[in-house]
Amino acid sequence: MEFPRNLTMAQAFFLPLRLTPFHAGLRLVHRIIGAFKTFATVMITAACINTALAVRGKTAPYQSLFPPRGGLVLLLLWDHVVGPLVGLSNTRQSIKLRLLFREPFIEKRVRLDYRYVETPQVWDMVSRTWGSPEDKIMEFWNAVLELANLLISAGSVFVVLAAQVWWAALISVAVTIPLLYLAVQSGKKQYDAEKEVSRYTRKNQFLSRILTSREAALERKLFGFSAGINKDFRKEFDTARKYLFKVEARRFVLIKSVGLAGAAVSSFALFMLIPPVLAGTLSIGLFISLTGALFNMINNLSWSLPWQLSQLSRFREYIKDVNGFFALDEVKDAEALPAETPPDFESLEFRDVSFAYPGTEKKVLDGLSLKIEKGKRYSFVGKNGAGKTTIAKLMTRLYSGYEGEILLNGRDIKTWGMGEIKAAFCAVFQDFAKYQISLGDNIGLGKIRGADEEEIKRAADTIGLSEAAAKLPGGFKTNLGKIKDDGVDLSGGEWQRAAMARGVISPAPLKILDEPTAALDPIGESRLYEKFEEISRGFTTIFISHRLGSTKLADTIFVLDGGKIVESGSHSELMAQAGLYAEMFESQREWYV
Ligand code: ADP
Repeated sequence: MEFPRNLTMAQAFFLPLRLTPFHAGLRLVHRIIGAFKTFATVMITAACINTALAVRGKTAPYQSLFPPRGGLVLLLLWDHVVGPLVGLSNTRQSIKLRLLFREPFIEKRVRLDYRYVETPQVWDMVSRTWGSPEDKIMEFWNAVLELANLLISAGSVFVVLAAQVWWAALISVAVTIPLLYLAVQSGKKQYDAEKEVSRYTRKNQFLSRILTSREAALERKLFGFSAGINKDFRKEFDTARKYLFKVEARRFVLIKSVGLAGAAVSSFALFMLIPPVLAGTLSIGLFISLTGALFNMINNLSWSLPWQLSQLSRFREYIKDVNGFFALDEVKDAEALPAETPPDFESLEFRDVSFAYPGTEKKVLDGLSLKIEKGKRYSFVGKNGAGKTTIAKLMTRLYSGYEGEILLNGRDIKTWGMGEIKAAFCAVFQDFAKYQISLGDNIGLGKIRGADEEEIKRAADTIGLSEAAAKLPGGFKTNLGKIKDDGVDLSGGEWQRAAMARGVISPAPLKILDEPTAALDPIGESRLYEKFEEISRGFTTIFISHRLGSTKLADTIFVLDGGKIVESGSHSELMAQAGLYAEMFESQREWYV
């Protein structure tokens, strides 16, 4: 489904009616009829009391009790049978809406420009829209219907009252108006308070993740920081709690005092109803039922009304977020699968490329030029933070806000479709993902159009993962991680090999392996270098590393410093130059000889 752009409150109200007409219609009819229940309750209760009195005074036959009692039974049925049935339909509606909304929200998120991941405010907004939009819309819906219900109920009580003593009704209305005004104000204040508190909540969520998550469990134990973080957590929690309590207490006092004043004035109005009762112009039944209805109404107006109004303000803010989210820039055909046949890779060229990460000033790349050619092996070296990974991110079009040109086969990469880019490049980054699915599927993701078992085994073998796979209880079918009961965790090095195997199995002609040996021990590292030839055969490869063990195997080494390529050539050429590379290599020599 296409989610409406620039959704307004009115459109949001009609959305459930359009998407789930049966359930929404049912709920609407239920609420409209329900709105007149207050009036019906007043009249039926009055009739019950009046006929009971008449039967006792022998002025009416016993049977006259049946119609009003029948009315009471209907009211009970309405509450206890119709209500739950509609509730059931609401649950079905919620599920239906969830299915309908999930798709446009997920699709939008997939298409989002990667740069937004770097902007906390935007990412916060994206996260806020993520929590069940269907529930948000239904809460809004309920609030609107509840408000209509409240107003119709209150209106009907006033009408009945006005029909008896018009000025008593007038006084009650006069009390209700400031109550309404205060309700709106307090609804707004409550929403503002929640927004303020959400700042603390976000920090608290982060702290609680540190205190409870599996990833942090080891460091938590070793560094023993739980107590300190717990203290911070309590502090933030207390601040938020006190703030909310203050707002809540203020609201309580305000609403309760106005509510009390309302109750006092209503009591006075009711007092004024006594003479008509004595004169016989107002029945005892109506007097009693009106009394109950009036107090009930004051209570509802002072409590339910502000709450429903705050729901409306909350929804208005939510819609702003949703509209903001759908207006974010997208990457064209971001969700495209890698093209079935990858483009024939000829060359990749950076021409005078400069780049700073979104929201930052520092030029990570500053006029960088390099050329990668088919079938060769490349190595990018440079200190930590020199910009090696950044180059790989620009190649794969994760960012597009750079100056200069990046050409794939002589054509600007911005003119290639994302499906072609995905098919042309395969990158395994340093902060690779650990998918909590089977080991085989972890590897198979590298060839999304379908990898068979043989290929998966071959990739694992190439990358030195077969032995570890054989030890797992279910081999390649073993679930990894701890989500499933039978899940098994891998060592850091094994996870890295699984990620690398994705790169190996990928049919992309250009493979980028970023710090592929970071989590391996020195023996594992040198064994992997021995496989370098096998991994690279028939492909163009880029190894990114600040460890220089692999560089001797590369045809060309690019040395990065200050956002530029400062040296390039083979190992022996660069050693002969006695520049930065030679210096780095000398300082690491004892690791590798
Ligand atoms: P290398 O791979 O050479 O270690 P990177 O390309 O990862 O270096 O990073 C180069 C520089 O860019 C570093 O100074 C780093 O702090 C900065 N950097 C990396 N990623 C981001 C980011 N997402 N936002 C802002 N700065 C970043």
